[in-house]
Amino acid sequence: MTGVLLGPTEIRSLAERLAVRPTKTLGQNFLHDANTIRRIVRTAGLAAGEHVLEIGPGLGSLTLGLLEAGHPVTAVEIDPALAGALGDTVGARLPGAELRVVRADAMSLSAADIAPSPTALVANLPYNVAVPVLLRALEVLPDLRTALVMVQAEVADRLAAPPGSRVYGVPSVKAAWYAATERAGAIPRSVFWPVPNVDSGLVRLTRREPPQTGASRGEVFAVIDAAFAQRRKTLRAALAGWAGSAAAAEETLRAAGVDPQARGETLDVAAFARLAGARREHDETRTGGAS
Ligand code: SAM
Repeated sequence: MTGVLLGPTEIRSLAERLAVRPTKTLGQNFLHDANTIRRIVRTAGLAAGEHVLEIGPGLGSLTLGLLEAGHPVTAVEIDPALAGALGDTVGARLPGAELRVVRADAMSLSAADIAPSPTALVANLPYNVAVPVLLRALEVLPDLRTALVMVQAEVADRLAAPPGSRVYGVPSVKAAWYAATERAGAIPRSVFWPVPNVDSGLVRLTRREPPQTGASRGEVFAVIDAAFAQRRKTLRAALAGWAGSAAAAEETLRAAGVDPQARGETLDVAAFARLAGARREHDETRTGGAS
């Protein structure tokens, strides 16, 4: 049963009326399957009446699903035509629903754009910018306690990958800084219009405290970037540029309790945090604590 939700016919006629031609650049693939939408809302594990942030509401498929379940929604959409039409679409189907539309680029989202802050993120993210958009939201909205996002299946695997896995990389470690991450199901291509040429998957993130370290988040992320820029090399070699020399890298690695011959793909986020902490301690000792 579709009810207030948008089915295939409604999606097509809405897009036609708004003269929306879905673009790949903005990752515009719209959901038109009520069962999938309700499944996403259920899987999100939201508290009753919890305020939800949706990034990229598009024509409003998931927005209506969230509102139908009684959640106030703040929706951030970059496309002016879609952002401009969302209020009317929702008003016609769910009068009185608590929706706030913010026309903005989620890549440069700030807490001020969407105050008061939602506590959950539920989104079918634009696929080409899914990771930076997700990391940005986790960074600038510390009140987000949970996220359920739909992304390209390969990206879902990467986000949820544990250390040592073939697909473990920068997105896995940076996501792990903020949250425990797990795959939460697959989504078939047939539930989108237009049908995408990639598979999709759900990822659930549950906020937790970042690992203890004397370094800042930026410093930890810098060593993660450096380690994976040359992921086939040992950390001693891969971190030579970051530390100043291979010998300095080895010294920092040993101080952090990490084998200099290991590769970055075997380290968890806590080890990267220790490395950045050891580097900072070393720098502070050299400059007499002035840095
Ligand atoms: N949530 C809708 C659905 O499931 O049918 C649409 C999802 S579609 C995959 C991605 C949406 O994100 C599009 O509406 C697109 O215009 C929007 N978008 C793309 N880049 C964006 C950005 N940087 N900031 C905010 N929204 C963006």
